[in-house]
Amino acid sequence: ERSKLKRLKANRAATIDGHEIALQANIELPRDVPAVKDVYADGIGLFRTEFLFMNRDTLPNEEEQFEAYKSVARAMGGKPVVIRTLDIGADKALSTGGPRPELNPALGLRAIRFCLAEPQMFLTQLRAILRASLHGKIKILIPMVAHAHEVDAALGAIEQAKAQLRAEKIKFDEDIKVGGMIEIPAAALALGIFVRRLNFLSIGTNDLIQYTLAIDRTDEAVAHLYDPLHPAILRLIAATIHAGAKADIPVSVCGEMAGDKKFTRLLLGMGLRQFSMHPTQILEVKQEILRSDAAELAIKVGRLLKLDEPDKIREAVDKL
Ligand code: PEP
Ligand code: MG
Repeated sequence: ERSKLKRLKANRAATIDGHEIALQANIELPRDVPAVKDVYADGIGLFRTEFLFMNRDTLPNEEEQFEAYKSVARAMGGKPVVIRTLDIGADKALSTGGPRPELNPALGLRAIRFCLAEPQMFLTQLRAILRASLHGKIKILIPMVAHAHEVDAALGAIEQAKAQLRAEKIKFDEDIKVGGMIEIPAAALALGIFVRRLNFLSIGTNDLIQYTLAIDRTDEAVAHLYDPLHPAILRLIAATIHAGAKADIPVSVCGEMAGDKKFTRLLLGMGLRQFSMHPTQILEVKQEILRSDAAELAIKVGRLLKLDEPDKIREAVDKL
């Protein structure tokens, strides 16, 4: 079975009816890149940069971050590398202090909220990413956005970093694309805010499920209630994919759902054309895509999205 999958490495991921699907990889550190290249991924759809900041006594400075981002961009040889700005807090804590201890860390000063509260730290990361953008095809991804003013402030910080570099005569990709994670239900219900301001969207199903269903994703006691097929989740994902298509901006899914082959045909039927996942899942997902007809799935999934009985939904997903 593994060797059969291995033969798919060099195949393009396309549906029977000819839709090309981008299969990208999620990474945590530069050392994850060889596994990505080994499966011929179409780039890196999510570089979780917080791992450069965790389990250490000091924060990485601009130079250290620049080297890390540059090495990944270079190694990917012109394929897209989506660098997510620091998504610290909740399940991913800094050992250097950072946000104060909170009663509800998942609802606290994390991700973009923390970065906007620490402008110097944010600027350092943005400068490092911009400098690295000369060495490959880098895009910037902002996590946990909910408000228009957060997106505006993040874009303002990027402009500030660019202005500093220009003043220092340091070159960067002037056309660098900026996207946002859709992982808070409010964002998925007010997509106009995000499609108007950003160049692409990436759906973080891990947090989207956590926040929509009010299930702490790290709490074993409620893990049985963490359900990717809850009709509310399916509708939020579908709405995000449709809003992106309508606004003509790319949408990807980079949460765990993207790498679970049980959901590949469901997501294809919703119109998803870009998936990002752990590199070990790429070939299995590709195998599903190769046997799928996107137009046929779109009709079936359109019907499935009208269901709200869990048993009916599960049965319909199994039959796709
Ligand atoms: C997500 O929330 O789905 C996601 C991809 O980000 P993380 O798992 O790093 O929070
Ligand atoms: Mg997330």
